[in-house]
Amino acid sequence: MENFQSLTLPQVLADALVQMDYTIPTPIQAQAIPFALEGRDILGSAQTGTGKTAAFGLPLLAHLINNPASSAIVLTPTRELAMQVIDVMRKLLGKEGKIRSALLIGGASMRDQFIALKSSPRLIVGTPGRINDHLDRGSLRLNKTDFLVLDETDRMLDMGFGIQIDAILDHISEKRQTLMFSATIPKGIARLAQKYLNNPERVAVESVTMVADNIKQDIVRTSEAEKYGKLVNELDTREGSILVFVKTKRGADQLAFKLNKEEFNSKAIHGDLKQNQRERVINDFRKEKCRILIATDVVARGLDIPHIKHVINYDLPQCPEDYIHRIGRTARAGAEGSALSLVSPQDSGKWHAINRLMNPGSKDDSRGAGGDSGKRNRSFGRKGGSGGGGRSSRFSRGPKRSWQSA
Ligand code: AMP
Repeated sequence: MENFQSLTLPQVLADALVQMDYTIPTPIQAQAIPFALEGRDILGSAQTGTGKTAAFGLPLLAHLINNPASSAIVLTPTRELAMQVIDVMRKLLGKEGKIRSALLIGGASMRDQFIALKSSPRLIVGTPGRINDHLDRGSLRLNKTDFLVLDETDRMLDMGFGIQIDAILDHISEKRQTLMFSATIPKGIARLAQKYLNNPERVAVESVTMVADNIKQDIVRTSEAEKYGKLVNELDTREGSILVFVKTKRGADQLAFKLNKEEFNSKAIHGDLKQNQRERVINDFRKEKCRILIATDVVARGLDIPHIKHVINYDLPQCPEDYIHRIGRTARAGAEGSALSLVSPQDSGKWHAINRLMNPGSKDDSRGAGGDSGKRNRSFGRKGGSGGGGRSSRFSRGPKRSWQSA
């Protein structure tokens, strides 16, 4: 499949693709869409940023358009991802006003969701907790649902949604088409796939350890005491929107407060904010009303804001895979981006784990992470470090996303 024209997509979807400037399918789209349009189940490994939303969105919407009695549901781990998915779906539906959709996510108004559900939406996008809530109350029925998407399944399991997913699937007919996506397919996911999928076609692009070529990665070695000053230096020298990751909700609030006092226009986002507050913060950042977003990992996956130029890891992530998800927030859709990690001696263990993930099998070049704090940056790149002086060299793995520049 070299272009979208070779697919038998309903006209509204073909028109929307032109409108959205999607001409060349991404690898995951090229692999998954033809099978999904044939009605096959899919087990797909693809991380965010690979175009997987349209990879499941196009077949799902084609199914709804071609089968007026059918309904579909998409489950996502986070509220933010659910909002992004429904946005893409609504864009793809374009003029097709007859297919109504409802976003069912925690933290948002129940009343609004009851109203949306009364209009018999044929597409539900949401998070497992809130969807179960509606199922329990009887405000949502899934008896006509015959198309299911599980997005970022690994993340849903990590967040403890396994039982919730089971409960939701009890409401959906076994005669359905299921597309399951996951960044990785560890044993737990493979087991789930066996349980939920019927003879799935396995599609895969880029392993989770691969990072797009267009992300320049650097580190700055520092002590905990000097970290804030180093961050300020970096913010001073950088232009464009910056996403800063921290470990805790409190840390996010405190950092935003301190930076604002120094007239860096910043806002914090984390799981303690109410849904409407989170939306407002993301919107302000999206519209470039605020330049610096300080975030916990709640937004690490899925956030798709093309103008993010820099990701800064003020605190390293707890789990090494999150490093890849975090830095994938920049260099969206073929743009250049940079990722910087502030690494203190206390971070040594985490930094080694990230190195092992990024450079499997190669000699660990991360000893700088645990060293003295005064020195400047050091590479942890596969081709060897910069020797302790100057900014670290660029490193990257994995194929360039040629579809993006094509
Ligand atoms: P996703 O992985 O679905 O979050 O998509 C990542 C980014 O790629 C989003 O900004 C999409 O709008 C964009 N995108 C997805 N598919 C295509 C395509 N075929 N052509 C151009 N851009 C795309």
